[in-house]
Amino acid sequence: MKVIGDIHLVDNTFANVYLIVRDNKLIIIDTGLPEEYEKIIKYIDSLGRIPEEVEIIIATHAHYDHIGALKVLKEATGAKVAAHKEEIPYINGEKVFKKGYTPVSEPVDVEISLEDGDEIKGLKVIHSPGHTPGSICLLDLETKALFVGDLVVEQKGELYEVPHHYSIDPMKNREAIKELLEIDFNHLLPSHGNPVLNEGKEKLRELVERFLKSD
Ligand SMILES: [Zn+2]
Repeated sequence: MKVIGDIHLVDNTFANVYLIVRDNKLIIIDTGLPEEYEKIIKYIDSLGRIPEEVEIIIATHAHYDHIGALKVLKEATGAKVAAHKEEIPYINGEKVFKKGYTPVSEPVDVEISLEDGDEIKGLKVIHSPGHTPGSICLLDLETKALFVGDLVVEQKGELYEVPHHYSIDPMKNREAIKELLEIDFNHLLPSHGNPVLNEGKEKLRELVERFLKSD
């Protein structure tokens, strides 16, 4: 389904797969589980596009439900893969997660190493460690949509922290969530749950206020 502007969400995947149509090319943010591959290809087809038009696949982080289909999708599209430099070893197989969510995906080479503040295809990289060391959020400067990966999840219109046992350092993740309040965005696009349009920042502020009450 279309989310906002040129941003789409591939329907019915376990972890969300976003697709941006920009400058006549496609950008994919996260790829979902291995079995999600067909859904992504089908969605590309529904746009009247072909897999070879995918230029870049960006991984918000290296968890299995976000990069499970990365290897096959990379092979099918010929796209370059981008991830934060601290996350790359967990994607190319040099390291495996020992804490948090630990299933291991097939190793994939990463061509583009991202750092905090980088800009890629109109998306600003925000390094947000905690859930994993190289977790990133991506701010789309065009639509003011913020892709948050697993920093927060959406349920029935409200935002929550990702359950602590899935994160390597949940309290660091909490600090990263608070820092997002400094960013100018309107829409919050999580990896689990529905996009929160227009009131993304308001809902994030409510979550941070709940932290303060529980401290
Ligand atoms: Zn995750």
